[in-house]
Order: sequence, then structure tokens, then C-alpha cells
Amino acid sequence: MRSSRAPQPGASAQTVAVVGAGVVGLCTALQAQRQGYRVTLIDRDAPGQGASFGNAGYLATELIDPLSSGKTLRGALAMLLDPHGPLALPLGYLHRSLPWLLRFVAAARPAQVARSRDGLLALNRAALPAWRRCLADIGASQQLRQSGYLLVWESAGRLEEARAHARYLQQWGVHSELVDAARVAQLEPALAGTVKHALYFPEACQVREPYELCRQLFAAFEARGGCFVQQAVEHLSADAQQVRVQIAGTALSVDRAVICAGAWSKKLLQGTGIEVPLEAERGYHLSLDSPVIRLNRPIGSAERRFVISPLDSGLRAVGFTELGGLRLKPIRRRGKTLRRHSQALIPALADPSLQTSEWMGHRPTLPDSLPVIDRHPQHARLLFAFGNQHLGLTQAAISAELVVSLMAGETPPIDLRPYRVDRF
Ligand SMILES: Cc1cc2nc3c(=O)[nH]c(=O)nc-3n(C[C@H](O)[C@H](O)[C@H](O)COP(=O)(O)OP(=O)(O)OC[C@H]3O[C@@H](n4cnc5c(N)ncnc54)[C@H](O)[C@@H]3O)c2cc1C
Repeated sequence: MRSSRAPQPGASAQTVAVVGAGVVGLCTALQAQRQGYRVTLIDRDAPGQGASFGNAGYLATELIDPLSSGKTLRGALAMLLDPHGPLALPLGYLHRSLPWLLRFVAAARPAQVARSRDGLLALNRAALPAWRRCLADIGASQQLRQSGYLLVWESAGRLEEARAHARYLQQWGVHSELVDAARVAQLEPALAGTVKHALYFPEACQVREPYELCRQLFAAFEARGGCFVQQAVEHLSADAQQVRVQIAGTALSVDRAVICAGAWSKKLLQGTGIEVPLEAERGYHLSLDSPVIRLNRPIGSAERRFVISPLDSGLRAVGFTELGGLRLKPIRRRGKTLRRHSQALIPALADPSLQTSEWMGHRPTLPDSLPVIDRHPQHARLLFAFGNQHLGLTQAAISAELVVSLMAGETPPIDLRPYRVDRF
């Protein structure tokens, strides 16, 4: 696959619209430019304001298991009943999320879990090299930091769980080290003494600031002659010659289009005759601005099920899986729960004078936890890259390389059948 900056001669006259300027759309727009396409990027907001704005910045390549599995389903009730638990099904949206939930339960079949894991593994293994290529190409390699990652447990009784998880991951080539409380304290002095053991992933990476990353991607896109249109796309249609993108009463005609509209992609696909069971999986962040309380790397809590990351802007705690759709207002008590977990793990965060801010975003999630990276079954000029659930930052650069190679008529280096749009 080509990723050099030099435009490819055959594609020079071709125009592409990329719908959605989140991290996936931005990477896709840049990758299309590298292949010589003339690219128009369209978003109703400024770039990087969707889910890509407020994530934890962690490239979670060790998350190779789908969200739906027998284990998840067995633990779901306890998680739902816990007022500080990570899972929520707001009642006002339950009637809408029910069909998706049924599919989610069906995706816990062992054969499907194995297929989803293979699909996630293939993307996650290729994720970091793709990010390195993308960032080196735009002179932003400093965004990527080999920080390592620490997955911590506070219950001594769950040592065997950590050991088994390390063995399981090793089987798939994901390296981690089981470390005791003394080593945890060395690695992360700010953590509470209640942490009993952890899995340390020394090779793990993070980005320094997710929104700044989006800004850098966008700046490179514009510097290379990319055009940005800040308008909502109302409809797309395609025929054998072109794609028509309907925006604000006018239609833009392009040779090809890629839908990268994150959790909002479903509606745009419906307009082209395709139904995808895409749900908005709402997650929250609490940013804590402290120049003195430091972490050296992202920390995940296996029991509290949240992650706290050191970013350039301060510490950011993220969590929750809330099936609340695209319209429901954020639920305010989520911030309190994130604060409670953060303070339990890092006692110095109990300082009431800390500046904090809260945010909610929509992860684009399909029942089998795999994204869609494909072209329209009837209209080859219309392509898709969305649905990366909790891993959209991790998988953005590789998703972009894959969808653009498909668009260019190349054979992608990863088998794309698991990510087909019509697999449901
Ligand atoms: C709390 C939280 C923490 C997370 N942490 C991590 C993490 O550490 N690591 C990781 O890998 N992932 C993480 N994620 C997931 C990751 O943020 C998402 O998967 C990723 O941002 C999705 O990117 P995207 O470009 O597909 O979607 P988005 O960033 O949501 O972008 C979609 C864009 O499409 C635009 N759009 C939609 N409809 C239209 C339309 N009709 N016309 C024009 N524009 C439109 C929107 O305005 C938006 O800008 C986290 C998510 C959350 C919520």
C-alpha cells in the first residue's frame, strides 16, 4: 500500500468527498490526498468536535475482545444495578436500543466472538504502524508517545484473573507483565496504595492530546490543498458515473465519496438503501487540570472499568457505556462517578480547588464490535469507514489506509470481509 506524499498519477483527476471530519474522516481525507485524489472534507461542525474530541488518547491495541461475550453478558446485570457501574440503559431510549441489544446478545455466540476477535486483532496489529506512517508524513510524530499502559486491580483476590488475562493476551501476541504493588508504586507514584497488582504493557502508546491531533491532521489536509465545507450532508446518491452529495440545498458532484460520520452514519446509509445496526454508545470524560498531579501513562482499572490518561491538557478520566442514542441530554451524575473513581485511584485528586470539565461523546458501535470498512454493494463509488466503537482513535489511520486502498482498486493488505457493510 502506498503512503508516500507524492500524488499517484492515475488518480489525479478524481474528486472525493469525505463526509465527517472526526479522526477517521481526517485520516481518510489525508490518505486520499496521498493517493492523488482531490478531496473535499465535509462536516456540519468544525473538525474534531465529535467523539474524536474528548477521548482518552490511548491506542488500546490490547483490546482484542469484542464488547459482546458470554463474560460481558454474565456481568451485565451487576453493572447495571451498581449506581456507579459502567453500564447504563436510559429508560427513555430503551425501546429504541432494544433491537440493537438483541443483536448484541446474539453476537456473544462463541463462533461470532472468535470472528470479531480476529477482526479486531487484524486492525489492532496494524494500527500503530499506520499511525506512525501518517504522523511521520505530516511531521507530527511527536503526537505519538510510547507511554506504556497499566491495567490495575485493587482486590488481591483477583490476582489469578490478571494472570489468566496476561496468558490469554500472550496467546495473541500481546505482551504484558504482571507487576506487584511495589512495582506499581515505582511506575506510578501518584496511585493509591490500594492497588494490589497490575498488568503492565510496556509497548503501549498514547497520543498527547486527541483534539490537537485532529487539528494537526486538518492543518496538513488544508496545507495540501484540501477543501473543507462546514455544512450538514443531507443525502447521498450514486450512479455509475458520480456521487451526488446533498448539502444545504445544493448538490456537490464527485467521483467518489467516503462516509466517515461516526455514530451518525446510519442515517446517511439509510438514504442509500442500506440498514446497519449502528448504535451511539455514549461515553463521558472528566478532565482534571492539575500541573502537579502526574501520571506517566494511561491507567485502566479492571474493577472500576474506567481509564485515566495523562494528556498535555491535564488528566482525563473516561468511562461508561450508555445506550442513550444521539439526542438524549448528558446525564450529570456521570461526572460525579468519574470523580469518585479518579479520587479512589489517585487520592491527590480529592483537592476541591482542581479545575474540572465534563464532556459526553458518541462512540459508533455495531453489535459485533467490528467497524464497517467497505464499499456500497451496488454503488462502488460510495465507500464507508465508521463504527470503530471504543477503538476509533486506535484504528483511525489503518481504517483510512484500508478504505482508500479499496477506493483506489488495490488489494488491501488486510482481508476486509469481516468489515463488510452488508454482514448483518
Ligand atoms: C469517553 C470516550 C473515550 C474514548 N477513548 C478512546 C481511546 O482512548 N482510544 C480510542 O481508540 N478510542 C477512544 N474512544 C472512541 C473514539 O473516540 C471514537 O471511536 C472515534 O472518535 C470515532 O471517530 P469518528 O471519526 O468515526 O467519529 P466522530 O469523531 O464522532 O466524527 C464524526 C463526524 O461526522 C460528522 N457528521 C455526522 N453526521 C454528519 C452529516 N450528516 N453531515 C456532516 N457531518 C456529519 C460529525 O459532526 C462528526 O464530526 C473514546 C470515546 C469516548 C466517547
